[in-house]
Amino acid sequence: MTDPFGEGGLGELESPLYREALAQLDRVAGVMGLDDNIHARLRVPQRATVTTFPFRREGYYEVETVFAYRVQHVLTMGPTKGGIRYAPDVNLGEVAALAMLMTWKTSLMSLPFGGAKGGVRVDPTVLTRPEVQRLTRRYTAEMINVIGPDTDIPAPDMGTNEQVMAWIMDTYSQHVGHAEPGVVTGKPPELGGSVARREATGRGLVSLLPAATTHLGFEVEGSRVVVHGFGNVGQYAALAAHEMGALVVAVSDVTGGIYNSKGLDIPQVQEWVTENGTLSGYPDVDMVSNEELFELECDILIPAAVGGVITRDNADKITARLIAEGANGPTTVDADDILRERNIFVIPDILANAGGVTVSYFEWVQDLQNFFWSEGEIVARLREIMGSAFEEVLNISINEGYDMRTAALVKGIRRVARAKLVRGVYP
Ligand code: NAD
Repeated sequence: MTDPFGEGGLGELESPLYREALAQLDRVAGVMGLDDNIHARLRVPQRATVTTFPFRREGYYEVETVFAYRVQHVLTMGPTKGGIRYAPDVNLGEVAALAMLMTWKTSLMSLPFGGAKGGVRVDPTVLTRPEVQRLTRRYTAEMINVIGPDTDIPAPDMGTNEQVMAWIMDTYSQHVGHAEPGVVTGKPPELGGSVARREATGRGLVSLLPAATTHLGFEVEGSRVVVHGFGNVGQYAALAAHEMGALVVAVSDVTGGIYNSKGLDIPQVQEWVTENGTLSGYPDVDMVSNEELFELECDILIPAAVGGVITRDNADKITARLIAEGANGPTTVDADDILRERNIFVIPDILANAGGVTVSYFEWVQDLQNFFWSEGEIVARLREIMGSAFEEVLNISINEGYDMRTAALVKGIRRVARAKLVRGVYP
């Protein structure tokens, strides 16, 4: 295989996350015997747009220059799909790595998309609302020729939200001269956004727990669950597990964790967080640190905050029999080896947290057809798609002798490879 980067380097894509994404692809390509030409092609994104633009902050005389990116990893499967991240350390390699992971995730879920990701290098926490609006509209204008309902459909990611998607939709629509809701997903419902999108990732993850626990020989009802992170994914995962009869014994956020061996009243905890902003100060529970949280006695562990939290330092101390990864990349490669040796069953991120992109797919389909589904239909279809993806990954894992993470990647990569082979090389 010829290496387009040359010996060992990653050229303009150099970043720790890209290295990791590539190491993962190379490992799985090896074990599944991936065609060399396809493997080489998948190691680099098909299209990457880097732009800089002027950005004026309120009360500042100086006009700043901001870097922004949109990377489309695979254009073979249909339009590309993936979130836009506003963060101070965003770079081309990181965005390209996240775009690659989106390819595996959308393919694994059999959605008609390739992977993409976008980013603006800015700290959104210090921006005013008008500043975020200006930044978003300029980013959209810069990317006007690479995004669109038939080409590339952004969605929210870290630092962006429903309002940002509404501004993207509006800016794009102003440029093309008519309302075009299908250009983004994760919009407010008034603009063609999907009901149940907000809960989709957490609830989708929990919908896999009955099949996983049955496979492992226990039941969700009465099992002890620990959730790291109490934001969009963590909150709805905790709530859905609680509704299923599990004892959610601990949850945490950036300020620390709360613990009750008899199970927390999750709706009450949610109310507290809505009123107070964080878990801090929640009454009548034991406080635990985020480090201690991973060592608590439990059956199911749901990391649902930041990446890289299950490491070689704590993987030995985890008591859970099942880990369902809500966060993207919560487990380091070293830790993964330890979990495998310890026979801890992992539902990997590209499967466990795929509920979000699946409901985004539904949103896009509804926008294109101008025909909107009921919440019941959305939830039922989400369960069906998640459930069959889980069954297929489990079957690959059992029949071909892979762990669940490798099996999920094999399934995702295999579908893309087949599509590339049948399309052939142009011209
Ligand atoms: P969020 O911002 O809504 O919530 C994040 C939560 O994690 C908050 O409770 C925050 O306090 C907590 N947190 C942040 N840093 C922490 C730390 N160092 N230690 C402990 N807790 C910390 O984000 P989200 O949308 O819930 O996303 C969480 C994870 O799930 C991310 O990895 C994201 O990439 C992934 N994800 C989200 C979606 C989605 O639909 N929202 C879909 C797929 C994957």
